[in-house]
Amino acid sequence: MPSIAQYKGNAPAAISLTFDDGDIAVVDNGVEALKPFGFKGTFFVIVGEIEDKDGTHAGWEKLKKMANAGHEIGNHTWDHKRYFYQMGDKVLQQEVVKSSRLIDEKLGRKTVSFAFPYNEFDETSASYVLRYQPFVRFKEFCYGGPDWSLDKANKWIDDTIKSRKWGAAMFHDVKSESPMFKMKYSDLMANLKYLKDAQDKNLVWVATYGEVGKYCAERNASRIQYIEHVPGRIVFKLTCPLSKEIYNEALTVKIPASAPPANVSVLSGDKAIPFKVRGNDILLDIIPDGSLVKVSWN
Ligand SMILES: [Zn+2]
Repeated sequence: MPSIAQYKGNAPAAISLTFDDGDIAVVDNGVEALKPFGFKGTFFVIVGEIEDKDGTHAGWEKLKKMANAGHEIGNHTWDHKRYFYQMGDKVLQQEVVKSSRLIDEKLGRKTVSFAFPYNEFDETSASYVLRYQPFVRFKEFCYGGPDWSLDKANKWIDDTIKSRKWGAAMFHDVKSESPMFKMKYSDLMANLKYLKDAQDKNLVWVATYGEVGKYCAERNASRIQYIEHVPGRIVFKLTCPLSKEIYNEALTVKIPASAPPANVSVLSGDKAIPFKVRGNDILLDIIPDGSLVKVSWN
């Protein structure tokens, strides 16, 4: 039976590379580190510090350029207050809602991802944030610092793949000299190469926090509705009840054939859509918008 793959491309696991706080150094060095591998990161910015007077944080123009290049700009609150969620409704509103709305407005796209300052939260604050930002980084593996090593970081990738989960790496400046986040740049490059090799073997899908979040939510909510289902031909619709304004990530549908399929054709309406064949499986990426999809092979 056709099914929706756990992660994009039918990879067994997913990894998001996230960078905190929005300092110019974090942003510039992060983008530079990811570039050779073609990875896109999620940059959690402190919104009240964007374009602050001391000029240490990335400005809107830079952030917009990054977003247009496929990176994600996420919300890391208005001013990174410790335990802001214990300071009453007004503070909550500013730290979570005002900050996300300003990113929406300045970047012209909906902010979907959020990270708590110091990764500190409680149940009440978590559920408050989830009302406004669907994807919250609740768990992370910290890159850099005295305990970090290339071996440990490679093992984290292996463990994420083995457990078939979605892991988030948390970076502060990748070239930081601060003992809290210091790491050898050549080790980081070796680790990102390790991740890229895993991605090339389709062991992991590397994508922004928002992309993986959307994928998982859509995967859980979507249904395949069959119009025709006979050997060598399947006609179906993939439907998802979630809001299209946010949930616009293509899902991978896996269609198992009884033998390696040949002469595969995939049409949505009259339009041919790309697909991959892996072993006996046909894999196609489609947005769950209810369009009629016709797949045939022999
Ligand atoms: Zn932070």
